[in-house]
Amino acid sequence: MGTYRAYRMLKDPDVRVKATDTDGSVYELFLKGSHERIDEVSFISDADDADVQAVDTFLDSLKGKTVREGAALVKEQWGTLNDTVFSLVDELITRYRVKLDGAHETRITNDDVNTGEKKEGRRTILVLSGKGGVGKSTVSINIAVTLAKKGYKVGLVDVDIHGPSIPVMLNIPKVDVLKGESGIIPLVLPDLYGMKVMSLGFMLEKSDDPVIWRGPLKNQMIEQFLNDVDWGDIDYLIVDNPPGTGDEPLSTAQQLAGKGEAVLVTTPQAVSTSDVSRSINFAKNLNLSIVGLIENMSGFVCPHCHATTHIFRSGGGEKLADTYSIPLLGSIPIDPNIGVAGDIGIPYVHRFDASPVSDIYSDICDKIAHK
Ligand code: ADP
Repeated sequence: MGTYRAYRMLKDPDVRVKATDTDGSVYELFLKGSHERIDEVSFISDADDADVQAVDTFLDSLKGKTVREGAALVKEQWGTLNDTVFSLVDELITRYRVKLDGAHETRITNDDVNTGEKKEGRRTILVLSGKGGVGKSTVSINIAVTLAKKGYKVGLVDVDIHGPSIPVMLNIPKVDVLKGESGIIPLVLPDLYGMKVMSLGFMLEKSDDPVIWRGPLKNQMIEQFLNDVDWGDIDYLIVDNPPGTGDEPLSTAQQLAGKGEAVLVTTPQAVSTSDVSRSINFAKNLNLSIVGLIENMSGFVCPHCHATTHIFRSGGGEKLADTYSIPLLGSIPIDPNIGVAGDIGIPYVHRFDASPVSDIYSDICDKIAHK
């Protein structure tokens, strides 16, 4: 492996993807286009010179092609370079297509998405955690995509005023938020089974804009999100809340007036702490019906031998679920690919469709659906 360096750096790309090859070398690819045309593709890598030059030649051949031609070329040439690079180029083009479709969707006429009446049977599920960093946003997104994959109509919204997760985790840059006759039109993601998303992040100038709304303004914002977005005829609305028991989950729960449900996320390190129990009590006090508990980062699956190592003590989630008489929906191990998927902005269960962790998500969603 050489030094990590820019081979041909591209400024302000429309999309970027990154992955580590089996030999440990890293590739990050960038694409810039105008509508259907691929204008520029470039990359940085720390792979050996010969590998890097082969990748460069291939990427050069994509320049000036339409996204369809580019995707066809990838299929045609699959196997001529290493698989990691081909998967990455494939992903890069898919990402760009999603972006194009997304941009298109924000401009389509309201007739396509405004279905007027909100469906009576819609279930709104708040994903809650006692503290940050336990994987609550990751779980929210992967549950939403898994439900959509199963054929349900799904909406996903973040109400984290201070750190909206959806734009980053789905790699959706700033989009125009439009208001139709029946409300704010959510973004439709055709590549993610038509899932609809809305995020406060879409309304910020820059993704790192500090948002300092407090109290009533914050409540108003959440009210607008939950009531004014024209979700149409959806089966599930998954709400990614900030951690803890602050203003946002409180306003969300109040808005739902006893009709909301909660999925709680914890990790083996956190189960012994009182803040998990606090969010259970919080949900109970706000009349949120608790669907169950998900224990995330429960053990580590070795990418080489596939054995599970319990880094922290195991069985904590089960114990906690038992103590509070709530179901344990599932235990998700630490999988380095979850971080990879998060970095490239493609949900894990979509990117790594056939994997034990995707099966666990599928199980969890069956339990949610049959509750
Ligand atoms: P939260 O919303 O609770 O703050 P995030 O969903 O942002 O947490 O996750 C925190 C970090 O942990 C992210 O980098 C995410 O990719 C990573 N992560 C979450 N769950 C897992 C897991 N099961 N295995 C590996 N990494 C994970």
